[in-house]
Amino acid sequence: MPLTVPQPALTQAVTPAESRIVTASLRGARIPIECPTWCTISHAAVDLAHIEDLEHEGTPVSIRIGCEERVMQVSLNQWPFSRQPEPHLAVEATYDSETEALPPAAALAFADQLAAHADTIRRLAATLGGAA
Ligand SMILES: [Zn+2]
Repeated sequence: MPLTVPQPALTQAVTPAESRIVTASLRGARIPIECPTWCTISHAAVDLAHIEDLEHEGTPVSIRIGCEERVMQVSLNQWPFSRQPEPHLAVEATYDSETEALPPAAALAFADQLAAHADTIRRLAATLGGAA
């Protein structure tokens, strides 16, 4: 039986110039897929049962606070064959928390919120500096 691979919506933000064709494995069949250049997943290494399970993910970046190593982890993420195929920023506040999927405008608002929070932390640290 030939495989039919659904294509992502035309509203997908990744342009062909920012992607490449790689091989994925779907129920044992090797299929070509378009993969954004920021994706670090080896799609041929995992045999998928459903094309909707195909995920593109960029390198996760997080900060460390004390012994918590994965705080505020962010990465680019996309489920190109899902109902919401657009790339987004995946945000995980802590290792075991729910992942938030932020579209571009929400990701920028989140960055502004973090910058304001960093200013607060600096101000509080300066207050502590006087007490040390
Ligand atoms: Zn990929």
